[in-house]
Amino acid sequence: MDYSLTEEQLAFRDAVYKFSRNEIMPLMEEYETRGEFPWPAWKKMAEYGMMGLPFPEEYGGAGADILTTLIGMEALGHGGATAGLCLSWGAHTVLCGVPIWLVGTEEQKKKYLTKIASAEWIGGFGLTEPGAGSDAAGVQTTAVKKGDKYILNGTKMFITNGPIGNVFVVIAVTNKEMKHMGISAFIVEKDFPGFSVGKELNKMGNRTSTTSELIFEDCEVPAENMLGAEGYGFLQVGKTILEWERSCLLAAGVGGMAAAIEICSQYAKDRKQFGRSISEFQAVQSKLAEMKMIHAASKRIMYKVAWMKKNEMPAMLEASISKLFITEMGLKLADHAVQIHGGYGYMKEYPVEWGYRDAKLGTIGGGTSEIQRNIISRMIMNLKKAKKEGMKS
Ligand SMILES: Cc1cc2nc3c(=O)[nH]c(=O)nc-3n(C[C@H](O)[C@H](O)[C@H](O)COP(=O)(O)OP(=O)(O)OC[C@H]3O[C@@H](n4cnc5c(N)ncnc54)[C@H](O)[C@@H]3O)c2cc1C
Repeated sequence: MDYSLTEEQLAFRDAVYKFSRNEIMPLMEEYETRGEFPWPAWKKMAEYGMMGLPFPEEYGGAGADILTTLIGMEALGHGGATAGLCLSWGAHTVLCGVPIWLVGTEEQKKKYLTKIASAEWIGGFGLTEPGAGSDAAGVQTTAVKKGDKYILNGTKMFITNGPIGNVFVVIAVTNKEMKHMGISAFIVEKDFPGFSVGKELNKMGNRTSTTSELIFEDCEVPAENMLGAEGYGFLQVGKTILEWERSCLLAAGVGGMAAAIEICSQYAKDRKQFGRSISEFQAVQSKLAEMKMIHAASKRIMYKVAWMKKNEMPAMLEASISKLFITEMGLKLADHAVQIHGGYGYMKEYPVEWGYRDAKLGTIGGGTSEIQRNIISRMIMNLKKAKKEGMKS
């Protein structure tokens, strides 16, 4: 296995890091403090070409492969983009854009992918419902064919980019009898009759992304907006985004780990207690060493998933291991970062405080830690149910 980066990838990584450090990071504190979506940073990311990074050039993208996309997001997180901003990018580019690119018709790609790549429109993904979270195949939102339209009824919960999105990939039941083989995917525009957005939800962390419910009340969706085959959309979309989500979305967090280590090692050198830098205390050194170990292992495991995907190998087991390890160890790293800062780490103006709150989402969103453990153990034992749970986003 060769994970070494090409000259182009190294140059790309350095360029994105500098862009993030110089153009994005200075904007973050203000929006993090206010808990608002950072429009100026979003626009800069769009101008820089981040929104369509993996899509083919004919749809306005940059044609980057999964590994290069991951490298870009890692560098963005390392440079200082907040977790919330990267989460919004993930919902837009990976959860909405990638399935349209890989499952959509030519017309759908021309119509929607170009707008997503340019960020003229913001995308999102609606799977979770008030009563269907980990049990994704338990969705209750229905889609009934009526003439040349599908009529959607139901509610989606915790939808990233809900309040600001123009277009959503939405999962709904088209044939209840067929269970998970009767669930389809649709591309829904915010202006379709019967679509509305619930109130913005107030979150613990990732406060620079916006989250809300999506409500469908006899929502009229043109039949040509079905994404993938009827009854298979859920499986097709789930399969497409799963490993992308579990590599590229985690990459920003792994980049954030590198930033936290740099911040903490500088702080440890600067902060004096008992007449010495706290960096001279072995207990502080041990925490930094452990943070580095977590970062190094996370990086390796994440690159392995991207390498497997790039080489068209199935990576469901590795993607679940990667998600579980990076998010749980990421929480530990965030805890060390606050601890090294002492009382200052508990104060809102310190990025390690945001990092601590942001890190918790990792073990919940995109399939909880418990679900990842189920998938891993079932795959070890070759049990079929793992496949179904793997579809959870
Ligand atoms: C900030 C944020 C953004 C999000 N963005 C999106 C989005 O853009 N689109 C989208 O569709 N969803 C989104 N989600 C939803 C997210 O994917 C779900 O919250 C997650 O899948 C868990 O579902 P739940 O919250 O209903 O928890 P539940 O499924 O109710 O789980 C509650 C607890 O029970 C455990 N549990 C459940 N089933 C099992 C089992 N079989 N074995 C062991 N333990 C189990 C869980 O692990 C958890 O600890 C977002 C969530 C948040 C918080």
